[in-house]
Amino acid sequence: MIKIATIVGARPQFIKAATVSRAIAKRQGVTELLIHTGQHFDVNMSDLFFNELDIRKPDVNLAIGGGTHGQNTGRMIESIEGVLLDYNPDHVMVYGDTDSTLAGALAAVKIHIPIAHVEAGLRSFNRLMPEEINRVLTDHISDLLFAPTETASKNLRQEGINETKVHLVGDVMYDASLYYRERSLSPKYVKLIDGTPFYLCTIHRAENTDDPKRLKAIVSLINQISKDTNVVLPLHPRTRLAIKNMDKEAFSEGVKVLHPVGYLEMAWLLANCQLVLTDSGGVQKEAYFYQKPCVTLREETEWVELVEAGCNQLVSPVDPNAANSIQQMSSVQIEHNCSIYGNGDAAGKLLSLILD
Ligand code: UDP
Repeated sequence: MIKIATIVGARPQFIKAATVSRAIAKRQGVTELLIHTGQHFDVNMSDLFFNELDIRKPDVNLAIGGGTHGQNTGRMIESIEGVLLDYNPDHVMVYGDTDSTLAGALAAVKIHIPIAHVEAGLRSFNRLMPEEINRVLTDHISDLLFAPTETASKNLRQEGINETKVHLVGDVMYDASLYYRERSLSPKYVKLIDGTPFYLCTIHRAENTDDPKRLKAIVSLINQISKDTNVVLPLHPRTRLAIKNMDKEAFSEGVKVLHPVGYLEMAWLLANCQLVLTDSGGVQKEAYFYQKPCVTLREETEWVELVEAGCNQLVSPVDPNAANSIQQMSSVQIEHNCSIYGNGDAAGKLLSLILD
């Protein structure tokens, strides 16, 4: 029996791991231990996903969250190492680019357990982002690197990573979007008049929330565009707190502020919105999966293919012309060519590679 230890901790990792765990459950001769670091602990950011995506209860919950990057990462490494020494898996599987990813990889490499990194090779080339450090370090100590795109695979080659370790399998987020879209649910806590256009917005990147000047610009930009089109804004706890800490910042009436929604409500919002406005990595791609134009409120993106194809536009929130750019983007028709992200079976492919 091959034993895989899966390490998750943050919202996007629950979605990715749900897809791979489903593939694992269908195979003979392989078993999985699910370790939740506790990085995301709010009910709306964690439990909700386990319930609605049918992910089984984590076998281990380390309950490590709420600290600084250093505190969280350090405590996670120590605790994960203990679990791995007990379970003695054949592979450790880590996802994406959070502190849980890096901690899992560091704990495994020191005790010589091979690491499989799902969503390897993504680069923003901005080392001020905590995610960029997590990705680069995890990739360089991983044994199996599952790249979601051609660009990601090229980035790894350019960093000198041995080609035999790199596998272009497609994006498990695309698998997830195909599987769950039919189960989408209309959101409970927002009243939208049928057929009234709205923009879907998510903001949570540290570069936007931790810089008061940028955050202020984002709030005023959202308020400005909501004068013409309603904006539905499921607000990440980090962003909610940062806005609360700012003097006199508030959203206007046209902005429908929600607590973070579940993935199935998110699927409904993506399917029904007119445009997506985000700084999320996952949501940029989902806009494309649902054939919606996207504006990314960042200076750079890891998912460059969509910008090159004209489906996504990078707009700096401090650009005085930002509202016009969003307006113009909202009428762009999106062509669907999903081969960029594989054929919807990234999870099956990567699992076969691990088992072989
Ligand atoms: N998401 C969600 N509810 C929300 C906001 C996002 O289910 O209120 C989903 C979204 O559809 C995507 C994932 O969370 O699948 C993206 O996670 P996030 O933006 O936190 O992280 P990133 O992708 O930037 O790493």
